[in-house]
Amino acid sequence: MSKTESAPVSHFIRSIVREDLKTGKFDQRVHTRFPPEPNGYLHIGHAKSICLNFGLANEFAGKCNLRFDDTNPIKEESEYVESIKEDVRWLGFDWDNREYYASDYFEQLYSWAVQLIKSGKAYVDDLNADQIRDYRGTLTKPGQQSPYRSRPVAENLDLFERMRAGEFPDGTRVLRAKIDMSSPNINMRDPVLYRILHASHHRSGDKWCIYPMYDFAHGQCDSIERITHSICTLEFEDHRPLYDWLLDELGIYHPQQIEFARLNLSYTLMSKRKLLQLVQEKIVSGWDDPRMPTISGLRRRGYTPEAIRDFAERIGVAKSESTVDIAFLEHCLREDLNKRSRRAMAVLKPLKVVIDNYPENQVEELEAYNNPEDLNMGTRKVPFSKILFIEQDDFREDPPKKFFRLAPGREVRLRYAFFIKCTDVIKNPVTGQIRELHCTYDPASRGGESPDGRKVKATLHWVSAAHAVPAEVRLYDNLFTKSDPEDVAAGEDFRKNLNPDSLQILPDCQLEPHLATVIPGERIQFERLGYFCVDTKDSRPGSLVFNRTVTLKDTWARIEKGGSAE
Ligand code: ATP
Ligand code: MG
Repeated sequence: MSKTESAPVSHFIRSIVREDLKTGKFDQRVHTRFPPEPNGYLHIGHAKSICLNFGLANEFAGKCNLRFDDTNPIKEESEYVESIKEDVRWLGFDWDNREYYASDYFEQLYSWAVQLIKSGKAYVDDLNADQIRDYRGTLTKPGQQSPYRSRPVAENLDLFERMRAGEFPDGTRVLRAKIDMSSPNINMRDPVLYRILHASHHRSGDKWCIYPMYDFAHGQCDSIERITHSICTLEFEDHRPLYDWLLDELGIYHPQQIEFARLNLSYTLMSKRKLLQLVQEKIVSGWDDPRMPTISGLRRRGYTPEAIRDFAERIGVAKSESTVDIAFLEHCLREDLNKRSRRAMAVLKPLKVVIDNYPENQVEELEAYNNPEDLNMGTRKVPFSKILFIEQDDFREDPPKKFFRLAPGREVRLRYAFFIKCTDVIKNPVTGQIRELHCTYDPASRGGESPDGRKVKATLHWVSAAHAVPAEVRLYDNLFTKSDPEDVAAGEDFRKNLNPDSLQILPDCQLEPHLATVIPGERIQFERLGYFCVDTKDSRPGSLVFNRTVTLKDTWARIEKGGSAE
């Protein structure tokens, strides 16, 4: 844990683990797991679960397994497995050699299914999916027993074996647990344990044509790995009686399932299925598009693992659903970037400025702090010359009342440099567009203060035109215009709420010369503008591409002070 990260706050799962250590419930062991299904890239919600599971293991000198819950061959791919490993590692966690796959346990799971059949606790059902649904009943109506429920054990064993042998087409038979069709908990109404799927699996190939359902795989995998605390999200609370029933019926080691509320973030979609849709429909450039809430997207955008871990710790762990303001995630990010990022000047929308009284061909090297928050990061030299660029937004020909930046006849400070005063505005005679400004500078104000104590109301960033490095800068905003992307009228979907301005590309930016040597992934604060990160895919020496990670404006700090976000 780095210094920027917060000390652990207690939460109910931590308390349960502490208590279990005290009573010796699991022989003083803490062994958790993170169980992704490899059917998509991980997102910030998964990061919460990763930090929780690996974090508890680290905190209590335990272990955390990485387990791929790969029981559905149709939606799973090795590409996802690789991305998941990369993301967990990048977040700062290590599973040593404990990389497991539910598919590695298929043989064991099969023999446990056989055991349940032999003890009269499971049967092969010939009803099809629709019939099973009809027979299941509803919350207010008890279920009905399948006519195949009372099949003799020997017949069940024979049919289950033939299911495995590939004798039957998909969907014609399933293996079900024999529990209670009138249970108030629908998950206990003879849940399906195995289905027939003639599909190739990304690991087991064509070895299997029957696959265990999540509910039959998960708890048994936990048991095999001797997990102590099986932490999952709230939607599994109603599955816990089944989790417990299966382990008890099989008479095997019994971990404890604990549920917590999943992370929801404002302006953010958190469903893998919908994120996949964004990728497939090319609404974003890929899973790692910097606007995506995926860990790979956040990484490419410039997020740090420290900021994400800190966020995960500070939002806490609760038993009831809520939505976290995305401004809080950005707040955690700024706190971290503020300390670690070196500063530089970059002009995103350049406006040419000619300093009329500055000698032609003269260049001065001015000293600038690399990080005013951390003087150990030293200083650098910034060249100053007769022709500069400033930000178009920093000049107004006809300034409104509270606009204190440059205007005709007005004097401002150029950061680390001199006072300049605008004397003339040159425009394109046809379009009226401003082409360049003419200014004078005060040589006595070198370094940014004038000896006569004259005050200016604004300090602008700038770059020397002759020395500047060109770059493309990509500005990002939320992918959705509504806090709840799913808030749509009947018949519409989240695509209705896509933000048309979520990406703005600025192709002609001008940067301080020392940025010519940045490396992909490097994070820098552009003074007055925000934190930026060199794009890891598209940036090349000589044609640099930067992503804006986050602006400097902290809406969360304002919310905390009791103000509104806007
Ligand atoms: P799916 O619908 O594909 O199951 P999922 O988001 O649940 O989607 P999993 O791969 O099953 O994806 O998730 C792995 C683990 O991450 C699970 O333990 C799950 O509970 C947890 N998880 C998923 N989404 C969140 C979230 N938003 N907040 C916290 N934990 C989450
Ligand atoms: Mg899941």
